[in-house]
Amino acid sequence: MKKHNFYAGPSILPEFTIEQTAEAVKDFAGTGLSLMEISHRSKEFVAVMEEAQQLFKYLLHIPDGYSVLFLGGGASTQFAMIPFNLFKKKAAYLNTGAWSKKAIKEAKLFGEVDVVASSEDKLFNYIPKNYTIPEDADYFHITTNNTIYGTEIKEDLNSPIPLVADMSSDIFSRPVDVSKYALIYGGAQKNLAPAGVTFVIIKNDIVGQSGREIPTMMNYQTHIDKGSMFNTPPVLPVFAALQTLKWLKNNGGIEKMNKVNVRKANLLYDEIDRNQLFRAAVVEPNDRSLMNICFVMNQGYENLEKPFFDFTTGRGMVGIKGHRSVGGFRASTYNALPLESVGALIDTMQEFEKKNL
Ligand SMILES: *Cc1c(COP(=O)(O)O)cnc(C)c1O
Repeated sequence: MKKHNFYAGPSILPEFTIEQTAEAVKDFAGTGLSLMEISHRSKEFVAVMEEAQQLFKYLLHIPDGYSVLFLGGGASTQFAMIPFNLFKKKAAYLNTGAWSKKAIKEAKLFGEVDVVASSEDKLFNYIPKNYTIPEDADYFHITTNNTIYGTEIKEDLNSPIPLVADMSSDIFSRPVDVSKYALIYGGAQKNLAPAGVTFVIIKNDIVGQSGREIPTMMNYQTHIDKGSMFNTPPVLPVFAALQTLKWLKNNGGIEKMNKVNVRKANLLYDEIDRNQLFRAAVVEPNDRSLMNICFVMNQGYENLEKPFFDFTTGRGMVGIKGHRSVGGFRASTYNALPLESVGALIDTMQEFEKKNL
């Protein structure tokens, strides 16, 4: 049976990425060697690294003065690396969920953290508005897409201080005005590549101002200077990321991808709003994520949660269980998820409604 892959991360990748990577694992760039057994300093791999950086810049229209880094350690290492490099006396954070909280926890190791607003009062089911970004903080950190709760900040904020964004789960899903950010980062395993590589888009002139001694590997300058080749980069995930970037380019880029993503999300949210058995976890349409669509059983139908889950499993759907901290369901609709899979889920919801009403 065809599987419909709604996992939140690691998650669905384009078939093109999987096939090209599988091929390179056997024979990389006609070298007769596996991608896994060749030097990262070989001219073949250096070309992969450079093209991946160039395509990042091309697809996201990254202005001059920024570097694209491919690092290890996951987005979670960035939670500490950001304050290590940028924190002087105070940092500002927006608390929109579990990932924001983890970032805040690391920043607090460096000094005063001003949490400007939080949506924790309603289990993070909305994006706080009408807060003031303190101009005396060194930077303002946001999580644009809250993978667990299904909320998303879909506009690029105007920040009077350097804006830092965790875009782990919405990078390449919508156009982004990179010039508004000092730093954008994320784990690649949601919308780009297999786990193991972390991307960082960084404005070159924000580093080197903390007045702090920084361990070499934790210092952005090291990786900017060496083009992410200071130490051995995660070779296979970088190769796979390049394939996804090529696929994006060949399929109309981010602007086209965004149109399809909006269509997929609207179809599914419309069905959740219409179907009597379900309700959306996030009420405010503007705050609803394009990438992680969270829903729960409507009042009075809570007992149907397990039966619905089993019903979808029988239809080939995988990964739609909500995060263990919130329950319910979460359908992740990343770039590589075909429209057809969203259609299949909607059909399943409608059939289940007919059976149970
Ligand atoms: C998955 C995720 C993370 C954690 O990424 P790791 O690479 O596992 O450290 C951080 N932030 C967001 C928004 C995520 O979705």
